[in-house]
Amino acid sequence: MSKQKNIRNFSIIAHIDHGKSTLAKSILEFADNSGVKKNKKQIFDSMDLEKERGITIKLNATTFYYFFENQEYVFNLVDTPGHVDFNYEVSRSLAACEGVLLVIDATRSVESQTIVNAFLAIDNHLKIIIVVNKIDLLNADIKRVKDDIKKKIGLDSNDIICVSAKTKENIEEVLKAIVNKIPAPTNEDSKPLRALIFDSYYDSYRGVVVLIRIKDGFIKEGDLIYFMFSKKKYLVTELGIKTDHEIRRKELHSGEIGYLCAQIKDIKDVIIGETITLDNKKAEYPLPGYKKMVPMVYCGVYPINSNNYNDLKKSLDKLSLNDSSLTYEIDNSQALGYGFQCGFLGLLHMDIVKERLEREYNQKIILTVPNVMYHVFFKDNSSYININNPSKLNDLSLIKKIEEPYVNATITSPKEYVGVITELCQNRRGIYQNIEYCDDFRVVVKYLLPLNEIIFDFFDKLKSCTKGYANLDYEIAKYQESNLAKMDILVNGKIIDSFSTIVHKDNAYNRGLNIIKKLEKIIPRHQFEIALQVALNNKIIARSNIKAVRKDVLSKCYGGDITRKKKLLEKQKEGKKRMKKIGSIEIPQEAFIDVFSI
Ligand code: GDP
Ligand code: MG
Repeated sequence: MSKQKNIRNFSIIAHIDHGKSTLAKSILEFADNSGVKKNKKQIFDSMDLEKERGITIKLNATTFYYFFENQEYVFNLVDTPGHVDFNYEVSRSLAACEGVLLVIDATRSVESQTIVNAFLAIDNHLKIIIVVNKIDLLNADIKRVKDDIKKKIGLDSNDIICVSAKTKENIEEVLKAIVNKIPAPTNEDSKPLRALIFDSYYDSYRGVVVLIRIKDGFIKEGDLIYFMFSKKKYLVTELGIKTDHEIRRKELHSGEIGYLCAQIKDIKDVIIGETITLDNKKAEYPLPGYKKMVPMVYCGVYPINSNNYNDLKKSLDKLSLNDSSLTYEIDNSQALGYGFQCGFLGLLHMDIVKERLEREYNQKIILTVPNVMYHVFFKDNSSYININNPSKLNDLSLIKKIEEPYVNATITSPKEYVGVITELCQNRRGIYQNIEYCDDFRVVVKYLLPLNEIIFDFFDKLKSCTKGYANLDYEIAKYQESNLAKMDILVNGKIIDSFSTIVHKDNAYNRGLNIIKKLEKIIPRHQFEIALQVALNNKIIARSNIKAVRKDVLSKCYGGDITRKKKLLEKQKEGKKRMKKIGSIEIPQEAFIDVFSI
């Protein structure tokens, strides 16, 4: 067991590409050479996808040792993901630490995620060590970085450490600062056990592996543990710490970070932010900061080739073993065949799942328009049903009202952007709550916003109108009645179910027109005229036509070469395979992809 006073629990936070991974590697190397034998080299950012996109999907924790002034220190480095969809998970990872290294690229200075992460660290009362990186580069501008630190984050910039993670210049100063400035955890072994779950992953042999920070008390192999939020009990089968390999331990004590196995079968039983206590000696209160993450955004995921439905199901089964926030259920659409209705934390989460399905699982898929969960009330009943898939709403005449989710949106930004932020929120049916000036540079703008207005492109718009500096955080506030209606797209009088959406009546005409204009270009001319229509609650509000043409592929063949004719007919048949037949109309597969691409 290690003495608490020699433990340092910390995380490295940074804007993408500022050198977090490179610095982590340099620190590990330096610690390796400090006279400790048990360290080995380790690699961060193992997933290809995350490297390419510069986002960290999988949280993790690594223990290594540093020998300094005749003492051996235990460093627990906790990794964090970096995007608004995962802000809650970042904040729970930070809650496992006493301090952070805030890395800032000396050539780029303070950027949006620098600010977001710094504020999460401040909110968690962590010691912040500012590391200015890439000073080997000619265009490094330390003075500008110092100014920005003061102006944009409000932190003291006298104490910064300037390094090059690449050339390893000054890395020793960083390790010394970790020892000298980040507080050691205090000994709380005598209190009842409280361990924070900050990450988990699935292992096919042991079930869910849970990463924990022991805050109070201690835990032993064989303990019967109790999850204070889910109220479930488990027997601890394995405890340990993660260096470059796992090292088993009989016990973990307050201040330590390690892993735990308890034959937990389903990752959904392990919620980030959960507090573990002992069943026979329960803590009075769980640790603060817990939030249950629920899917906020839904969309249909269909195989492009409907024969691949089973493959897609297997891939989703596998993917969800390690992604507790992803939900999916079987769905069926007349246009797209069998597929799934999936739930995501937000748009980035949706994007990551899509990319992982495509790249890691080789699935060719179509995603339908993202939706939120609506409460639909019927005339004959006082209760409502949950609808996240508008094509399931059939008899519109029975509907009394539709409620949609509103979120409390908190936008943090440098104060010069207040004007553009309020304008954006007003345009998205936002209801003003308040504006708070925290200090000379930072402002917090609060709006009640329909989630439906956020899930399209709100985040991108916000970033572009604030040069990337604004940060958005939101949580579900309430459901509220809105002037909503079901919008259908009809092709020759037939509703195409996967094009149906629920929209605010004020937006319906523009959105609908947009879709039929796209379809007009994509659907090939047939031998008869095709009518395209937009219906709002069964009333036609917009229309257009695709003119008839007599399409004869054989007209290109002048001679009487029968094999050539056959070939052309074959080719035409091939083309037809990629068409979906709706009534007598053939709609090319791309129509579905194009209409749904935002
Ligand atoms: P992360 O996204 O924060 O993890 O950033 P990385 O560690 O992946 O670094 C981003 C890029 O910056 C990589 O190409 C690194 O090689 C480069 N880089 C990191 N640190 C330094 C440094 O000190 N000097 C120079 N010149 N390049 C660096
Ligand atoms: Mg990285």
